[in-house]
Amino acid sequence: MFDKILIANRGEIALRVIRACREMGIHSVAVHSTADADAMHVRMADEAICIGPPPSPDSYLSIPAIISACEITGAQAIHPGYGFLSENANFVQIVEDHDLTFIGPTAEHIRVMGDKITAKDTMKKLDVPCVPGSDGGVPDLDTAKKVAADIGFPVIIKATAGGGGRGMKLAETAEDLESAFFTARAEGKAAFGNDEVYIEKYLGRPRHIEIQVFGDGKGNAIHLGERDCSLQRRHQKVFEEAPGPAIDAETRARIGKVCADAVAQINYIGAGTIEFLYEDGEFYFIEMNTRLQVEHPVTEAIFGVDLVREQIRVAAGLPMSFGQDDLTINGHSIEVRINAEKLPNFSPCPGRITQYHAPGGLGVRMDSALYDGYSIPPYYDSLIGKLIVHGRDRPEALARLNRALGELIVDGIDTTIPLFSALLAEKDIHTGDYNIHWLEKWLAENVG
Ligand code: ADP
Repeated sequence: MFDKILIANRGEIALRVIRACREMGIHSVAVHSTADADAMHVRMADEAICIGPPPSPDSYLSIPAIISACEITGAQAIHPGYGFLSENANFVQIVEDHDLTFIGPTAEHIRVMGDKITAKDTMKKLDVPCVPGSDGGVPDLDTAKKVAADIGFPVIIKATAGGGGRGMKLAETAEDLESAFFTARAEGKAAFGNDEVYIEKYLGRPRHIEIQVFGDGKGNAIHLGERDCSLQRRHQKVFEEAPGPAIDAETRARIGKVCADAVAQINYIGAGTIEFLYEDGEFYFIEMNTRLQVEHPVTEAIFGVDLVREQIRVAAGLPMSFGQDDLTINGHSIEVRINAEKLPNFSPCPGRITQYHAPGGLGVRMDSALYDGYSIPPYYDSLIGKLIVHGRDRPEALARLNRALGELIVDGIDTTIPLFSALLAEKDIHTGDYNIHWLEKWLAENVG
């Protein structure tokens, strides 16, 4: 086992990893930019080292700075968290070239899954069901027209390198195709340096269902059921739950096995998430994330496992501490993402926290790096906390969420807390009757 792990991240996820390290008796090293000298992860880690100025490319994304920090502190392994360098295959290669361990999958798996066309192709070969669409990339408008006519409108044009909801354009009819095609290409080029696009059937009212998988890198893999992340704004998740209200035990076992078998066949190591759209009882693969997800705590809650601990174990060459048969679902869990954003436009709202009070009590977990008097810097993501609740069943989890939101105080800035209190007054949220378009529609009608 490692003696010392460096966490190449900040905010709540850095704390999450520090906590797992401490419970495992492993020394933790925080890295930080000059803007984060007073950040909670710096205070909580056993050691901290400054790696550069505020902009991420000069600090949290600076590979030389992070490798030097390992050399200076003697850290043997790097946990990347999510975002930043977590899905950067080049980084993983450099880490390994320096005889350090990357806590996550291999560079090759990250590369394959990071390109959506290659990912889809790989999953098809592994018998994972995919959204009907083009066979690989679509090089020009004429091909796009042919493919779209074959699939039938509406279609979605996606940049193969896209992510975070960017590089995706809907074409409702043949008239929209040209503009959608060139816009998706331009966005792919501008945001990810790659203008290759592909076409998929656009599903009208699917749910977003993702399967948590875990492999030991030696051909053994398990699944930890699904998360339903259908409540999204601009293709970004805001509210996640497990188990999914629309998934029964038999469906879960079936799709879970398909996913676990797929990752076992490629000797996948560590945590991964296979994302699907789910409509009329059918699953359609959209992408695989080769890292820990923001919403992993809902899975931890219902299975009573620590996914970061497992990531560290398999990275150190140890077996997973549980097998498929050891996993049974206990109750229901919901996570809401608290962002420093001002409604109705969700514009970023950094600033000084004048008062912070975290909710507590049975079944409540607050993952946040906030504290009284903390100043949220303007340089990074707007996620400032995740409120996770766990109850014996879905109604209890919803009641607990409502109660915990009432206790949570974040003063001095605007946040998305009022959004969740308002959502809990909606009947559809209580019946679980929503799809990936529900929230956008609700926001247009209620928040404007
Ligand atoms: P990203 O990598 O940007 O997150 P994804 O491929 O995971 O992109 O898609 C993000 C979201 O976009 C999905 O959760 C869903 O809401 C929507 N989406 C993606 N593909 C389709 C599709 N074929 N039909 C309808 N909606 C889609």
